[in-house]
Amino acid sequence: MKTKAIRPEFVTQFPAVFEQGVLYISEEFETAGHLCCCGCGEKVITPLNPAKWRLRKEGRTVSLSPSIGNWNYACKSHYLITKNKVIEAGQLDAAKIKTVQRRDRRDMDRYVSIVNARAGQSTEKAPEPPTKVVPEKSLFSELVTFLRNWWKT
Ligand SMILES: [Zn+2]
Repeated sequence: MKTKAIRPEFVTQFPAVFEQGVLYISEEFETAGHLCCCGCGEKVITPLNPAKWRLRKEGRTVSLSPSIGNWNYACKSHYLITKNKVIEAGQLDAAKIKTVQRRDRRDMDRYVSIVNARAGQSTEKAPEPPTKVVPEKSLFSELVTFLRNWWKT
């Protein structure tokens, strides 16, 4: 892992060129982006929504959960960003990667259909970003709670 720590930078829009070691966070567009922490130079875009990643701010540090699995990139790196620190997570075997990818896609499809139903739009497939790894069973119940609260506001 080349990048051991990241520096959060709050932006509205991402810069054209990312700097290694910076986590760009656009709260307006609910997305964060950084250069892969292994140093391969790939841009890793992590949507911030209940079906994808959650950003936690504590003082001047940020944490992204769950972990980031760059299976679509040659490096296949897998790490966690916790309080600005990059923590290497274990490599997963192909079968395990397939399982998390499937679960991730299902979370996202559910999320998109709920959001679209609310907005009265047609169901459109979400693009395929890197995969989050959910350690516990599912984010879906959390997601439902989130949307229920959102609805109320
Ligand atoms: Zn990489």
